[in-house]
Amino acid sequence: MTAQDHPLLEFCDVRKEYGGTLAVSGVTLAIPQGQFVALVGASGSGKSTLLKTVNRLVEPSGGSVRFDGEGVENRPLAALRHKIGYVFQSIGLFPHMTVGENIAIGPKLAGDRLSARRIDELLGLVDLDPEMAKRMPDKLSGGQRQRIGVARALANEPQLLLMDEPFGALDPVTRDALGERVRTLHDELTLTTVMVTHDMAEALLLADRVLVMDSGRIVADETPHNLLSGGGGDIAQGLVAVPRAQFERLAELSR
Ligand code: ADP
Repeated sequence: MTAQDHPLLEFCDVRKEYGGTLAVSGVTLAIPQGQFVALVGASGSGKSTLLKTVNRLVEPSGGSVRFDGEGVENRPLAALRHKIGYVFQSIGLFPHMTVGENIAIGPKLAGDRLSARRIDELLGLVDLDPEMAKRMPDKLSGGQRQRIGVARALANEPQLLLMDEPFGALDPVTRDALGERVRTLHDELTLTTVMVTHDMAEALLLADRVLVMDSGRIVADETPHNLLSGGGGDIAQGLVAVPRAQFERLAELSR
């Protein structure tokens, strides 16, 4: 089977139950190679749980997840995670390691040593100075730390980039700049990206495809254009209404 024969990522009736709580309730969907997908929804709708079934931070209670044509549960965990970059909100850099060592940790665990030149290149991808490699994480701003998190996620040249509220803790200017940088990297490195966010504006601006989750289900699967044209149903439109109303109020104020 060649790469063209199957989507890069497939969810087939994926469910996850925690005690009595159904966090993910039968999700079936396919994500082709190269797509930038935003997974949007209210807090507690199951976005993070669904995302984590891909890199096996969460074991589904039912159904299956296939990555590059093979069930994730059948792949050795280290090999699976080697192909999947993961960025999350509180990025968790190791405080006793330099920035360079933090970026090189994934390849090191897999037995590879990243060259200083490759670390420079990874820093460059996220618009950071090579000088940064020698610094310690506690001396950095939140935005710089998050950029390093993205560089670290790209160190293994992953096929898939998973991001869980990656910019949630950043100020709006940094958030906007880093979001655009990640979208550019997605295109330049021909990645496939799934980004969890509760921010519909961010999803509409960055993604090719927006999935809306509610109570563990995907209730809308639309392009940003279709959502902005009124598609996707009531829950999706409720989320689109928020940035739209803000924009209209700002436009009113500037008249
Ligand atoms: P979201 O990412 O959309 O905010 P989550 O996937 O984090 O949603 O959570 C979905 C539901 O599952 C919530 O009701 C949450 O409380 C519950 N949940 C998530 N993780 C756990 C866990 N480790 N143990 C118990 N319940 C959990």
